[in-house]
Amino acid sequence: MDHYADAVFSEPGRCWRMVYDGEGSGRPTSCLEPVVWVGNHRLAGPKGKVLRVWSCDGHLEGVEQAERVDHR
Ligand SMILES: [Zn+2]
Repeated sequence: MDHYADAVFSEPGRCWRMVYDGEGSGRPTSCLEPVVWVGNHRLAGPKGKVLRVWSCDGHLEGVEQAERVDHR
């Protein structure tokens, strides 16, 4: 699944990736797929800052130590 550049979105319950909208405008929009995973994303760069991120099934790549979100 495509995602937009390196924009990272760290908000509980929201997919962390930005995507291009479906209308071909080229504008990025936040991914609205249902969140299935929670894990850590290490930012590029010498300090390697780690963010807590939530992810849909299609954007799991780049998420470390991913665990399934418990939907109870
Ligand atoms: Zn997503």
